[in-house]
Amino acid sequence: MRLSQYFLPLLRENPSEAQIVSHRLMLRAGMIRQSSAGIYSWLPLGLRVLKRVEAIVREEQDRSGAQEILMPTLQPAELWRESGRYDDYGKEMLRITDRHEREMLYGPTNEEQVTAIVRDAIKSYRDLPKNLYHIQWKFRDEVRPRFGVMRGREFLMKDAYSFDLDAAGAKRAYNKMFFAYLRTFARMGLRAIPMRAETGPIGGDLSHEFIILAETGESEVFCERAWLETDILAEEVDYDADLEPRFRHWTRHYAATGDVHDPAKCPVPADRLVTARGIEVGQIFYFGTKYSRPMGAVVAGPGGEEIALEMGSYGVGVSRLVAALIEANHDDNGIIWPESVAPFRLGLINLRPADAKCREAADTLYARLAGAGVSVLYDDREESPGAKFAAMDLIGLPDQVIIGPRGVAAGTVELKRRRTGERQDLPVDALVARMTAEFPS
Ligand code: ATP
Ligand code: MG
Repeated sequence: MRLSQYFLPLLRENPSEAQIVSHRLMLRAGMIRQSSAGIYSWLPLGLRVLKRVEAIVREEQDRSGAQEILMPTLQPAELWRESGRYDDYGKEMLRITDRHEREMLYGPTNEEQVTAIVRDAIKSYRDLPKNLYHIQWKFRDEVRPRFGVMRGREFLMKDAYSFDLDAAGAKRAYNKMFFAYLRTFARMGLRAIPMRAETGPIGGDLSHEFIILAETGESEVFCERAWLETDILAEEVDYDADLEPRFRHWTRHYAATGDVHDPAKCPVPADRLVTARGIEVGQIFYFGTKYSRPMGAVVAGPGGEEIALEMGSYGVGVSRLVAALIEANHDDNGIIWPESVAPFRLGLINLRPADAKCREAADTLYARLAGAGVSVLYDDREESPGAKFAAMDLIGLPDQVIIGPRGVAAGTVELKRRRTGERQDLPVDALVARMTAEFPS
């Protein structure tokens, strides 16, 4: 993409409404614009990141055996009356009446909707287990929307729902999602710690929140110091194996959110306990028959007996992750994208677009990289070098490739790694080989 043609409305000044760094940088880097309180438009650069985050979430859901569906944003109120949540949900739910005076709502979550689908389609124990997920916009009329997409009113969530015959099956489904989440966040270069959590309005018996430690986080959390030294890598997982021993291994160190942490019962001595703030990027729940019973989601068992489905639900804050990634990856000059979610692999800066030789060298390299499947944002604008460097640092692409008259004469380009600031002159062929080797098309 040529920057001269790209819709990238950068802001020079820090927007006064933004209180945390990710919100400031998302606005300054032209990723989002506010529409109304807690509701945002995603501009091209922001949308590219959102899509990459979404793709990783999807791949790991699919890998674990969950199947993607797409449910609507608008739901009929009757479904929520069946579960008994219509009145309980309160003012966070956006209620809408259609032209026929039918009560509708903009879905804050989809337990009822998916339970109705499964109830109507699955009648026999032979058709279980199932785990269905979708990636869809949600609306919650938060009292205090703030921090940009971190706590929006409209936000993109991945929500999965598992259906099993018994508690043991439901725990297997829970374990699969637990590992899918560990892998998902690790692939984004995030350290998301699974912490015991309150089940809240979803209800139920077992829950973990996946928390990224950050001073700007809204949750107070407690964990054993050992977590700070634990690398959470995207290890291979055999989803057909018994994951319970591995689940126990990954939950061996204490970690709990403020809602469930009880100082009187905490097993960790004070000198090994870390009290911190964190960002909740995902949460998983096991809640048994809380929805299946009132909604009549039952199947016939082997002896013809009625079995109410054992369920769990599993959310990831896809749009919140974009902000959380920036909270975890930035410096004074701007964002530093991990390669796995970067909107472009590299920024190509032509320092002298007016110089015919520089322009030819930059155009040729741009075409070669694009032809090799490397995504490039090419700064071909007539701007000062300082403005170009500042813009590239702000938007945080993993690498910058700089073309100037000195290098063109020598047949080299300069490679600058955004994260370390390390700079290196490379022959053009070596640069292309390196980029295509790192990112095979
Ligand atoms: P929170 O405690 O932050 O309000 P929640 O526990 O109510 O979130 P869940 O119902 O667990 O949210 O939703 C699943 C995921 O969706 C959360 O882990 C979070 O990452 C994301 N999420 C929830 N509310 C918002 C919001 N208002 N804006 C952006 N993302 C959100
Ligand atoms: Mg939650």
